[in-house]
Amino acid sequence: MTYPVIEKPSLAEVRMKPNLQDYDATYRSFQWKSVERELAWLPGGGLNLAHECVDRHALGGLRDKVAMLWEGKEGEEETYTFEQMRRESNRFANLLKGLGVQKGDRVFLFMERVPELYFAFFGILKLGAVVGPLFSAFGPDPVRDRLLNSGARVLVTQPDLRQRVASILKDLPELKHIIVVNKNNRSREPLARGDLSYEVLMANASAEFGPLTTTKDDYSIMHYTSGTTGRPKGAVHRHYAVVQHYLTGKWVLDLHREDIYWCTADPGWVTGTSYGMSAPWSNGVTQVIYEGGFRASAWYQVIQKYGVTMWYTAPTAIRMLMKAGEELPGQYDLSSLRYICSVGEPLNPEAIFWGQKVFHMPIHDNWWQTETGAILIANYPILSIRPGSMGKPVPGIRAGIVEQDGKELPPGQEGDLAIRPEWPAMFRTYWQDEERYRSRFQNGWYVTGDRARQDKDGYFWFVGRTDDVINTAGHLVGPFEVESALIEHPAVAEAGVIGKPDPIAMEVVKAFVSLKEGYEPTPQLRNEIMRFARQKLAAGVAPREIEFVRSLPKTRSGKIMRRLLKARELGLPEGDTSTLEED
Ligand code: ATP
Ligand code: MG
Repeated sequence: MTYPVIEKPSLAEVRMKPNLQDYDATYRSFQWKSVERELAWLPGGGLNLAHECVDRHALGGLRDKVAMLWEGKEGEEETYTFEQMRRESNRFANLLKGLGVQKGDRVFLFMERVPELYFAFFGILKLGAVVGPLFSAFGPDPVRDRLLNSGARVLVTQPDLRQRVASILKDLPELKHIIVVNKNNRSREPLARGDLSYEVLMANASAEFGPLTTTKDDYSIMHYTSGTTGRPKGAVHRHYAVVQHYLTGKWVLDLHREDIYWCTADPGWVTGTSYGMSAPWSNGVTQVIYEGGFRASAWYQVIQKYGVTMWYTAPTAIRMLMKAGEELPGQYDLSSLRYICSVGEPLNPEAIFWGQKVFHMPIHDNWWQTETGAILIANYPILSIRPGSMGKPVPGIRAGIVEQDGKELPPGQEGDLAIRPEWPAMFRTYWQDEERYRSRFQNGWYVTGDRARQDKDGYFWFVGRTDDVINTAGHLVGPFEVESALIEHPAVAEAGVIGKPDPIAMEVVKAFVSLKEGYEPTPQLRNEIMRFARQKLAAGVAPREIEFVRSLPKTRSGKIMRRLLKARELGLPEGDTSTLEED
């Protein structure tokens, strides 16, 4: 299916001159060395992500600039300048040092999006320890698995979350300290025995810390993947990743010093650290951090209240906003917005067109993974958008479509999406699973596990995850194409598509569909959607079966779990469900 191209805006139409002016010329002449020179580095040649994001601004010209505009879930408001961030993170580094934490030790954060999470994050990095952020909605088992696997020495958490995981703490012999942040005295409960009070320790810690001693190759952050296709893996990154966070913040998110930026991802997932901390702050940009959860009206309110100019979000959030209707955004002043990007899942063309209608600008899709650490393929302000395409490789990144033997396929053919190693934000290992790490590199490529094709003009098109591609009567069908067609029907809110085994066709396409409010799941509607899909899609690709569901199973990072739809359909074991969002 093809959709009309959205022509690039003329320079007269854009509110800010894009940072990246000429994609092709830049791609051809690009060198990482020149980006490296835009960062400060440490005396003696080391590199520290916290120093690039916080200290270099605090000690330079942005000392009193607001780094963080925070709104708590109880409506509290706090702001922090780069200098305050520097001092608070120094305190935390000193606090850890006082506890005997060493370079390379793992310190995990199990917290809501409160400012202290961000201070602790940078404090850990300043000390040279490895930070592991966990999503605050996790139950005890996923927390235990990750702390056990990583051999975490310290856990920083909050009273309610501490209580939620109390039962697992005895299973963690390597966990030496629990630091509890009682944000704004929200909890009246006394500390559990042996726990340490963040507030007490911070009050006694010096706001000066140094010297920083990390090198560019020292481990910095570890993130467990989303678990969409199986058991989550602990991808480990290094400080050098900041070079790419900085660059993609500048060229893909088009961050300017005047921007008010809002990244809706939680730091428990890689987007929430690479682009909820590192990219904006290494670019010296002010960002909004909103602790509350998703509610369409609350989100529009955040944009209006803070005058958000640049917004980075995800397809699942956009689909939820679409579900809440077109009238709601009209009740808010969203005129501050100038640029919107999305990541995490393929962005359905329908969502891009909706962005044009409601926000008066298209949404720019980009592609990357926990393992890649930063954006690798993207749409840019200065390129036309081909709806449904994830765009073109970031300068410095060589992407290809390859066959199993590593041979590159010509334009138009579908194959494995692969990247030439290495790039600054590339992961360095899967924690305690070096073999699996090595298995991702084949014939001189990093093989991503996604299927895609490239068109003759160099745009990349996502087909589906390798595991999700459907083989029906000799055709390979990507679920994304079918799902995108289905959600164009006015009644359909979301769709998840799987291959169902079939004695004749090998697999047939089956769709699970959730409806927008006001629509009833009747057999007539099912037939109508089936007809609609048949008109949109090539014969054999349209779903043979449609089942209405109230909602689709998703990971807590918002990805449709097709493997679970399939397992449930076939009555097979569900496998790892540690990241499944219950509703
Ligand atoms: P796991 O590896 O544990 O199964 P996961 O792959 O979902 O989980 P992440 O690293 O969070 O974990 O997600 C990366 C994946 O998300 C990509 O490999 C791709 O399948 C999908 N993805 C991300 N952005 C896009 C995009 N713009 N278009 C299409 N797919 C995307
Ligand atoms: Mg993955």
